Amino acid sequence: MLTLVEQIIFVLLALASAYFALRSADRIRRIVRRGRGAEKISLADAARRAWDAAAKFVTLSPTWQTRFWPSLFHALVAWGFVFYLLVNLGDVLNAFLPGYRFPTSGAAPALDGVYHLIADLLSVGALGGLTALLLRRFALNSRDFAFLESTLVHPKAKAGIRRDSAIVGAFILTHVGSRFLGETFRLAEHGADPWQPFASALSFAWDSLPLGALTVMQHVCFWGAIGTILLFVPYFLYSKHIHIFMAPLNFFFKPERKSIGQLEKIDFDDETLTQFGATRLEHLEWPALMDAYACIMCNRCQDACPAHVTGKALSPSALEINKRYFLNDEGAALAAGKESGPTLLEFAISAEAVWACTSCGACVQICPVGNEPMRDILDIRRSLVLMDNQFPDLFQTAFKGMERQGNPWNVGPSARLEWAQGLNVPTVEQNPDFEVLYWVGCAPATDPRARQTARAFVQVLNAAGVNFAVLGQREACTGDSARRAGNEALFFQLATQNSEVLQEVMDGRPRRIVATCPHCLHTLKNEYPDFGAQFDVIHHTQLIAELMAAGKIRTDPTRTANVAFHDPCYLGRHNRVYDAPRQVLQGAGAAVTELPRNRTQSFCCGAGGAQMWKEEEHGRERVSVNRLNEAIAAGQDTLAVACPFCMIMLTDAATAVKTDLQIKDVAEIVAAGLDARPA
Ligand code: SF4
Ligand code: SF4
Repeated sequence: MLTLVEQIIFVLLALASAYFALRSADRIRRIVRRGRGAEKISLADAARRAWDAAAKFVTLSPTWQTRFWPSLFHALVAWGFVFYLLVNLGDVLNAFLPGYRFPTSGAAPALDGVYHLIADLLSVGALGGLTALLLRRFALNSRDFAFLESTLVHPKAKAGIRRDSAIVGAFILTHVGSRFLGETFRLAEHGADPWQPFASALSFAWDSLPLGALTVMQHVCFWGAIGTILLFVPYFLYSKHIHIFMAPLNFFFKPERKSIGQLEKIDFDDETLTQFGATRLEHLEWPALMDAYACIMCNRCQDACPAHVTGKALSPSALEINKRYFLNDEGAALAAGKESGPTLLEFAISAEAVWACTSCGACVQICPVGNEPMRDILDIRRSLVLMDNQFPDLFQTAFKGMERQGNPWNVGPSARLEWAQGLNVPTVEQNPDFEVLYWVGCAPATDPRARQTARAFVQVLNAAGVNFAVLGQREACTGDSARRAGNEALFFQLATQNSEVLQEVMDGRPRRIVATCPHCLHTLKNEYPDFGAQFDVIHHTQLIAELMAAGKIRTDPTRTANVAFHDPCYLGRHNRVYDAPRQVLQGAGAAVTELPRNRTQSFCCGAGGAQMWKEEEHGRERVSVNRLNEAIAAGQDTLAVACPFCMIMLTDAATAVKTDLQIKDVAEIVAAGLDARPA
């Protein structure tokens, strides 16, 4: 119980703290609302989203993907800190209500006991976890928090992040430590409590203190615990510690997408639109502004980024951190509804870094608070291409090819079926009653190496007796590369044209589309519905897995070599297809060796995000070579892939490093093992 003077000081401090906190919170709200778009959430959706967000918040599930020990230490701190919201409430009630003891004043001893036990355990856990985290950051000087020289980083960020960590660390140590110590003094006065084993053990250290000293120390500790909160709250909203509120809000409000890479359509028929893509902060989607506040500055995304790992100037974490430091310093204009000032390229990310992104989605997948730096980058590309006509020179050739020939290789429609010579490949005109439309894609239709995938897949389809057809000359590029390169106008043109063709040939019947290219799969499945083409689209490994399960494909396992498998980003992370290619390889008799970076943590081949059509940005190493070396180290003769882009990039890398490792598509491996006997 506080004295009257203490109670008055507490109320005054609490009012001042609440005033500054609400002012800062309102500023953040106004800044976030300046972002593009709005999310409409129905009541039913709200309940489900709240449940999902709460589950992530409580289990901290996104953090466990990497860095086990730091994640564990962080969990101890986070669980302790969250439980302390209840503990703080209880302590304030104890301080103001005479004779009351939170939670039930002994009316329900078991409940009181459990509450004290959890508080005792979590206090020690939080203090231990935080000490380990501080040692890791300051004594071990972990490389996790370093940036490359070439990366654009806000001038205040490097020192600021360390200072912020020190302040937040000191606050939590003082806050939790004071509260824990306060309990030890209370137990020294009233006797040990079996429900508080740690505090009871330490309370014996105060046996020699007189009663008056124990009382004084309990007051000192109350102010150490609760007073620090009141002082810290106004700073809290400017620190990265705000993520404990912004992360669950981020999970709750984040638009639900079919895939982490699904981009929203720009309606070029809307003549009121004057800004395409993001030049300034306020041009980004509003969740991108939330991201800046949710970012915990952990650099997990940087560690996962293939561009960063191979020494390019790109760091997705630096992008989020730069946005946050800019908003802290100069967010007032945005909050007041004015233009934010400098462009994103001037303070958030360099153009070189923007063009280094492979849109692999690793940064989005790994982020513990649900941030999406990749979307910012693609939004900035849109603005560079559509507003400023600035893009890598080599894109010009691919753009022209897509625009005029419907093919980034610049090969015209008349050559679209050359790959199929000598095979039974009916077009939709020749087989109008097809059940499966094989969307070949530009790479398998054009590139000499990738054509072998298309040929192998058709052999498998014919062996299984699948009733299929292809579009032939009517198939044009899906526009995936144009979209990821920022050329949304070209994507709009291709998507509109292809969607009309698809709607006509699919003729309203329940037919499926199968694609051998995960980029085609992604675009047709997740992005074409915005253009009216809503179909059941699957990857060829999924169809082959089905055919195998139905006994329609038989292979001779003695003809199949053991393989390592590379998860393509647009098949795995972007479309969550991880099992089908493995099932197919195993069904064909291969033992599958996993690469160290596999499934959700797979490493890019370097072709995505339209990198296929430009020179790789300057760095230490090629992304494809980095991945290939990992595959070579796996010790198999063959690396199985399931994407023509991966095939091309890794084959080129194999030539460059002069290895005997064979790169083969899953369909090629199945086709090679096809058993001639009837199924
Ligand atoms: S999408 Fe991939 S390449 Fe681009 S920033 Fe994220 S991790 Fe890096
Ligand atoms: S964006 Fe996410 S993963 Fe990257 S530093 Fe921020 S919190 Fe960490």
